[in-house]
Amino acid sequence: MLRLFKKTAPARDTAQFHVSHAGDSYRIALKRVAGATRFTIRVRSATRDVVLTMPVRGSLSAARDFAERHAAWIGARMRKLPKPIPFEPDETIPFAGVPHLVLHAPDARGTVWLGVTAKGEPALHVAGDARHVQRRVMDFLKREARKRLEEAVRRHCAKINVKARDVTLRDTTSRWGSCSATGGLNFSWRLIMAPPHVLDYLAAHEVAHLIHMNHSDEFWALTHRLSKDTDSAEAWLKAHGASLHRYGARGEGNAD
Ligand SMILES: [Zn+2]
Repeated sequence: MLRLFKKTAPARDTAQFHVSHAGDSYRIALKRVAGATRFTIRVRSATRDVVLTMPVRGSLSAARDFAERHAAWIGARMRKLPKPIPFEPDETIPFAGVPHLVLHAPDARGTVWLGVTAKGEPALHVAGDARHVQRRVMDFLKREARKRLEEAVRRHCAKINVKARDVTLRDTTSRWGSCSATGGLNFSWRLIMAPPHVLDYLAAHEVAHLIHMNHSDEFWALTHRLSKDTDSAEAWLKAHGASLHRYGARGEGNAD
């Protein structure tokens, strides 16, 4: 398996500290960037964290001062972020673009299945102990994501007679998919929450990278040939992609 995309890559400067404002504490991750001439702070909605970018030789105490001075701003931005929605009973989560109510069925057999509520609305039924609901929903979503992405990759590959080495699932925040130089395709499992045409488009996009390892005109021509939904799916991701990051606990079970 290709390790290039592992989240545990140690090469980064991982220094961090906390600042407090109005009773809340915020973790600030420091990122030293070659060429940076000043301090900048941004709040990332996908990961609900704060990144302070600074010059390579900037001092830690100056960075801390800067963050403290902007603590009120950070607090205001953090409070505006959409609240995370855990995979828990009575929460509503999207599955293949459709909102599903999570219903706990402690006495039922099985694990997780799609069904309807008493009112006939889409539901995700989860059997077993209440403590395992989160993990079971997560496992179910990843399993479905893998099944549908593998199917879509196979289908698009067959159209242009190429082969993907394998399909790997990640919980990436910066991109929805990627293609390695050795033909491995990586996808965010969160795509299972997006409408089916978006998941299918992402598969087409990465399969097209098996031919063109860039975003050239030729690449986009091929992507459009594979997926007629290219433009609408890109637009959907731009408008709604970030919202998929509010579901479930991040950082748990990020394995393939
Ligand atoms: Zn691409």
